[in-house]
Amino acid sequence: MYCMTPTIETKSTAEIQHFQEEKLQILLTYLQANSKYYKNVFATKNIAISSIKTLSDLAKIPVTTKDDLQLHNDDFLCVPKNDIVDYVTTSGTMGNPVTFALTDADLDRLAYNEAISFACAGVTKNDTVQLMTTMDRRFVAGLAYFLGVRKLGASIIRVGAGIPELQWDSILKFNPKYLIAVPSFLLKLIAYAEANNIDYNASSVKGVICIGESLRNEDFSLNLLANKITSKWKIDLFSTYASTEMSTAFTECEAKQGGHHHPELIITEILDDDNNPVKEGEYGELTITTLGVEGMPLLRFKTGDILREHREPCACGRNTMRMSPVMGRKKQMVKYKGTTLYPPALYDLLNDFDAIENYIIEISHNDIGTDEILIKIGTESPSHELLDRIKDHCRAKLRVLPTLEIHDIESINALKFPKMSRKPILFIDKR
Ligand SMILES: [Zn+2]
Repeated sequence: MYCMTPTIETKSTAEIQHFQEEKLQILLTYLQANSKYYKNVFATKNIAISSIKTLSDLAKIPVTTKDDLQLHNDDFLCVPKNDIVDYVTTSGTMGNPVTFALTDADLDRLAYNEAISFACAGVTKNDTVQLMTTMDRRFVAGLAYFLGVRKLGASIIRVGAGIPELQWDSILKFNPKYLIAVPSFLLKLIAYAEANNIDYNASSVKGVICIGESLRNEDFSLNLLANKITSKWKIDLFSTYASTEMSTAFTECEAKQGGHHHPELIITEILDDDNNPVKEGEYGELTITTLGVEGMPLLRFKTGDILREHREPCACGRNTMRMSPVMGRKKQMVKYKGTTLYPPALYDLLNDFDAIENYIIEISHNDIGTDEILIKIGTESPSHELLDRIKDHCRAKLRVLPTLEIHDIESINALKFPKMSRKPILFIDKR
């Protein structure tokens, strides 16, 4: 049995900050000794690591971008090759994937991270969890979930992604209390159950740890996708936000007011376009410093994700910061007819229509240099009435009207699932 809620999470904000500043010293010493990339940054920018004492001193160190990581990938590695246990890749900004190498200790750290995250959402050692995401294909997430459930002392069924029939077979055979799934896939599970007379509300499933897609609006109320799921299936949805680069998850507790920060694992900053901190509570780019990572630690890495922090104490008793839902990816920001929007707002809107089978959003520059939004919609029942309803919805929710086109479902699926892609593509950026 693994004892949960680390004591630091219920300490005061000042104590948490002091704790992180001590961890930061350890990281800086480690980078100075082992990281070719950061050693070079410290030397060329004349930074004495002894001058970085507090979290606000971090501002003296330049940020690390995704391009830096891609251009100098090998220089970030802090251990000899024979210490590497697991290789994973993430999609790079300039096409080539970025490699992350994890040591034995890094896998232990990931297991700890997921164990306390699942515990935060209420999973205990007495529970069985069904994993509905892939374990291989150079992803780290599925492996991390497996290790976390194991560390927690709970049981896991590794079904992998897709295949509703096998998912239901496993649910009915092993009676999991929790699922780990992409929320939109839950709609497929509901549809399969309905078509095959499975009473999903009578099943063992009580909660889902939801990955990859947002569940909530800015005020933490359920978004359209989540409402669509829970209006049929009476289950608890918990959001978790993580990435390979962060090697850390922000998972909701039962209060469901944002993903909790684990101070022993990561330092967070929310920065504006000039790399200055935003005002407290404002949206900006999440910038992270990993703590306790051995293979490829990152210092002030700009994640590209736009979010904001909530710092009031939580009803669960933790005093750690909570991360808002991701508003979008910085690179995918669309300036359209005087409005700034991010693709998730469009996904949320389109997911509300049962008649929409699939869709692709294409963003391009027009000849006057501003953005254009084209939404290609696949449906089995095309009609003017459907188009009008989508248009009304766009005007009400976005206050602007993108260009809409109806296409056949197959041609959109061809765009959505290109060969070699590990995730469905919903957004094509032609800018
Ligand atoms: Zn909480």
